[in-house]
Amino acid sequence: MGRLSDAAWDDVLAYLREHHSELVDSGVSRLQPGLLESGELTIRVGDAALHSHLEGRCRSAFVDAAQAITGHLVGVRFVFDPAAGAARRPANPAELLQLHRDYLFENFVIGPENQLAVASCRAVAEAPGATYNPLFLHGPSGLGKTHLLHAICHQILAHRPQARVVYLTCETFVNEFISAVTAGDLIEFRSRFRHADLLLVDDIQFLGRGERSQEEFFHTFNTLFLAQRQIVLSADCLPNEIPALADRLVSRFRSGLMARMEALCVETRIAILRTKARVKQMTVDDAVLDYIGNTVKGNARDLEGALANVRALADALGRPMTIELARTALRGASEPPAPRRVTVEQIVECVCARLHVRPQEVRGKRRHRSVAMARQTCMYLARRITPLSLEEIGDCLGRRDHTTVLHAQRVIAERREKDPRLAALLDELEERLRDGKGAMLPAV
Ligand code: ADP
Ligand code: MG
Repeated sequence: MGRLSDAAWDDVLAYLREHHSELVDSGVSRLQPGLLESGELTIRVGDAALHSHLEGRCRSAFVDAAQAITGHLVGVRFVFDPAAGAARRPANPAELLQLHRDYLFENFVIGPENQLAVASCRAVAEAPGATYNPLFLHGPSGLGKTHLLHAICHQILAHRPQARVVYLTCETFVNEFISAVTAGDLIEFRSRFRHADLLLVDDIQFLGRGERSQEEFFHTFNTLFLAQRQIVLSADCLPNEIPALADRLVSRFRSGLMARMEALCVETRIAILRTKARVKQMTVDDAVLDYIGNTVKGNARDLEGALANVRALADALGRPMTIELARTALRGASEPPAPRRVTVEQIVECVCARLHVRPQEVRGKRRHRSVAMARQTCMYLARRITPLSLEEIGDCLGRRDHTTVLHAQRVIAERREKDPRLAALLDELEERLRDGKGAMLPAV
């Protein structure tokens, strides 16, 4: 097959960053794209120490990454070659930070699910420290949190290459902290973070695990915050849902702007596929992208995987990407997911029993206050308890539009903040549903 394209190679590096983050600081990002031939990926390494490090410790990670990206079984071989010494591209700040070069604002599709998140990230990139501090992005995995964090870094570095931008995952922060403690050298560690102009920490939900790292992060946070330096955090849940996170950190994380990223509706899914195809310089018919977007009801990462599968099959068969071929490649992807523990029907039953409303009213057109409130509560709970997308929930509740569901979720969340009785009711309903006791709820 020959040399991996730059885009495919970047995907391999991105995969390593995400799934084998222990490797990222070992010079891996400076490697030149490997050569893929007869099922083996050959990677030339110009530095002897790096070569033996890769040989000794990194082969299985590369095999994993190469297989995930190419969709084929491939072996990996590292060859020491002094001529391969030169860096693939000149080192620039973005590269040193291990930023994915395609994770730019221009390549990010805006939909109702991420509008607030994108707007706040753009505001932060334009005037760091001046608008929302900290900015806390949260939502399930695969919806673009990492992409947006990288986009902020890219934009700031494009305008101010000298800015001290620190981007890292929480896991790296914790690991580096532990190494610094072990080596008895906290001074350098601290100065790196506490002198940053901008600190972005991805997947902060892992901070709950260690008490000392929390303490360290708390001081880092305060130092930067007081100096009006921008802090951006991402997590797969809300600050108060991070297991074992100290209260003082929870309240700090909540003190700025929290922007939630939602599951994707079909229009956004198709737009993301178009963007991915463009960025990866693939020519694919709109009809095929529409088909994939309608079939794969998952997150953006699932969509990328599906597109890669279709491309891999087309390459393997030497045939163009048609809907027929996509159907074959994605067989299984459209099968209904495994039964869910809590269904929207159960939520409707439970909420209606508690609020004295009839289920058919909730699914119907009535706008009476009590019915509308019950309907919005169902939508809110469905978002919290089920993995369904906005549009799927809207469908189950009288074929309502996904923006209605989004609105309901916000309205209830806002009221909940102000009304402790509503908060208690929502907690009770959620607990019962999660415990499978929803249907037995007596009407009180
Ligand atoms: P997260 O960090 O939330 O798990 P990522 O940022 O890693 O998600 O996104 C997964 C993949 O999906 C990335 O390749 C990213 O570029 C892509 N992606 C996610 N959301 C969008 C979007 N709205 N537009 C374009 N690409 C997206
Ligand atoms: Mg991420």
